[in-house]
Amino acid sequence: MAKYLVLLLVLLLSSCSKNSDDAQALLFEEQMFVLGTIVNITIYGESDDKSQKVFHDLLTDFKYMQAAWNPWKKGSLSRVNKLLEASEQPFVIGPAVKRLIEQSSVLSRKSEGMFNPAIGGLIKIWGFHQDEVPQGPPPPKALISTWLAQKDSMEDLELNGLILKTSNRNIKLDFGAFAKGYGVDRAIEHLKSQGVDNAIVNAGGDLRAIGNKDGKPWVIGIRHPRGDSVIASLKISGDESVFTSGDYERYYEYDGERYHHILDPRTGYPANEFTSVTVVHQSAAVADAAATALFVAGPQAWERIANKMGVDQVMLIDKSGKLIMTPKMERRIELIATDHSMVVVSDKIK
Ligand code: ADP
Ligand code: MG
Repeated sequence: MAKYLVLLLVLLLSSCSKNSDDAQALLFEEQMFVLGTIVNITIYGESDDKSQKVFHDLLTDFKYMQAAWNPWKKGSLSRVNKLLEASEQPFVIGPAVKRLIEQSSVLSRKSEGMFNPAIGGLIKIWGFHQDEVPQGPPPPKALISTWLAQKDSMEDLELNGLILKTSNRNIKLDFGAFAKGYGVDRAIEHLKSQGVDNAIVNAGGDLRAIGNKDGKPWVIGIRHPRGDSVIASLKISGDESVFTSGDYERYYEYDGERYHHILDPRTGYPANEFTSVTVVHQSAAVADAAATALFVAGPQAWERIANKMGVDQVMLIDKSGKLIMTPKMERRIELIATDHSMVVVSDKIK
């Protein structure tokens, strides 16, 4: 629901620039519920018939991805998870998960394993694999220590063509930190292939936008990690993705502590230094993986990991409310009702 709010805010901000009835007539907006979130498709400058048609193509594609990529419910990915556990013998995977595994393995390596889609076992221990957010208490330390000792990593997978094998049968793949970005990229590819030049694919506040609206940039809102307001806005034209990982999406409180869904593979516990990390990059998949990785990396390591992952537009918010930004982000972001004295600009990223 929290992300639903961001979605409304994005719509609200973008509708502020509506000033002509003609432009309004060329604007198509429709939403679907897929990949556990509301995905809003905005198309500008096409006939309604064409927009309706591509919207339905995207709906079909997203439903397919949703069925294929669930780690636990029957589909291509849960089959992979079962076969990884069953033996060390090689097996053939479905094409629907091949590129997901390939692309995420590269990003996982660059992130030094802070973004680690082989983390499914730990997510299950914490109960964040269920639709409902768990209530606590946090899991016993012994379970977490056992998971840490397994050292589940994407490096344990060997993929040759469609043949996959592992020497670590504990691995459970979970693309919760990546599938949305990957899926948004596929959706934008489809829109481009159909000749659509101006569009936003917004998956619960995480989005990729191409083109513009009637010559004016799209305006995107970034949610405040505490409370329901917008903390900043960004103008986008061309082709860019904006992805945020936050500790407010899925969490519970137990004994005064907040336990949320972004887990640090080094400790087995929720990463607890930042409250929100926003990454802008052309590729939604890279932005999604990097937002999660930098959230986990924390204040000591985020700049190193950002450089390795090739991202240079980042805003991180820490628990004290400090806004840390790369120079490129600082130059373009517009803060809303936020004191500039809270901003620190990194000198380790160009
Ligand atoms: P959001 O829920 O806002 O999209 P993320 O993109 O950061 O946030 O994804 C969080 C999800 O990713 C979790 O629900 C879990 O399924 C998975 N996850 C948690 N920690 C990690 C991690 N360190 N590496 C990879 N995936 C993770
Ligand atoms: Mg992510």
